[in-house]
Amino acid sequence: MDKIDKIVEQCKDIVCDINYTLPKQWKNKNKNRVLVGYLPIYFPREIVWAANGLAVGIMGAGDFKQVLKGDAYYQSYICHMPRGIIDLALDGHLNEFDGFVFPSICDVIRNLSGIFQVEKIGKFSKYLDYPQNFNKEIGGKFYKSEMEDILEKIYQINKMPVGKEQLNEAIRLYNINRQYLRTIYDIREKYPWRLSAYELYVIVRAGLSMPVDEHNQLLETVIEEINKERGIPMDNIRVVVWGAFCEQMPLNLIKSIESAGCYIIDDDFIIGSRWITKDVDENSDDPLNALTEAFLNHSTFSSSIYDVDNPKEKRLVELAKKRKADGIIFASPSFCDPALLDTPLCQKHCEKNNMKYINFQFSENTGQFKVIKEQVGAFSDSIKLWEDITA
Ligand code: SF4
Repeated sequence: MDKIDKIVEQCKDIVCDINYTLPKQWKNKNKNRVLVGYLPIYFPREIVWAANGLAVGIMGAGDFKQVLKGDAYYQSYICHMPRGIIDLALDGHLNEFDGFVFPSICDVIRNLSGIFQVEKIGKFSKYLDYPQNFNKEIGGKFYKSEMEDILEKIYQINKMPVGKEQLNEAIRLYNINRQYLRTIYDIREKYPWRLSAYELYVIVRAGLSMPVDEHNQLLETVIEEINKERGIPMDNIRVVVWGAFCEQMPLNLIKSIESAGCYIIDDDFIIGSRWITKDVDENSDDPLNALTEAFLNHSTFSSSIYDVDNPKEKRLVELAKKRKADGIIFASPSFCDPALLDTPLCQKHCEKNNMKYINFQFSENTGQFKVIKEQVGAFSDSIKLWEDITA
């Protein structure tokens, strides 16, 4: 086992732990610490860290837990993720969390925040409405007031005042985290065999349950290791996988795509960790303004964001070209309205730009990958064949 194998094993254990043991252990070391669970996609984790807390990503129960109670709260024709989260909450897996934040990405998440309120899960349950107006005097002011509201809710629990210094230090640490992730993606663009998409996925996702400084150390080691040669280059095609920004793929589905002959050289799996695409000002007199400015002007693209001036289909094809992708795999969770409504739009743009693509749907607890693997394998073979013909 090399250093990365050991890190991946450690991260996989964290990702698969639906009891959130690591964050709970972190909290229990100091009575003023708080845990705030947040749902996909993006949440400014800096504000919780500054308030002596840890923001923990709740990405669903995946295929780690059978859903028994969640089906009673939701109709059958919605995605799987919120049902699993209800089971996690009602079965006590989220005990010790102080509060929960539900970013506004779709009606399903909004309704989940209501269920948490009705069931009195946690000391607070906040529906975080993101601005769809990107004017700093309108959407900016509103977003800042939303962050202030969350800080006040945490203050009511631990009575720890949050000042400029704490916020700037938190921004500094999360800037490092995002820089490291950007570096890893850039190295993989050139040498995708050095770190598989599955390995990358568990490493990034583990960061949603770890103190940011510890995750930064881990990422630093990963960068050191993949700057050296590792693995064997394969005759794979290069793909961007898009659509799984909220409900997450089963780990084995990511492996199946890879083993069907693809290097996944970019994705939106845990896109919240890379949401802000540039460093946030870490020396600001008003750090909440700095976070607001970053959200308004330096957010990545996603189906959950109103983007009429800079459409996502254009940005997606640009990303695929920048990464020198041979094609795009649209992989949306079943019944995910935001992803599925955008897919035809994006595919039309792919056609205009001669970008090849395929499309499938999945569920976080999908257990059968054979059909998807065959589809992806055929996609990979056909691209290799076309390239040979046109060469
Ligand atoms: S998977 Fe899609 S529909 Fe389901 S909660 Fe997430 S964004 Fe909403």
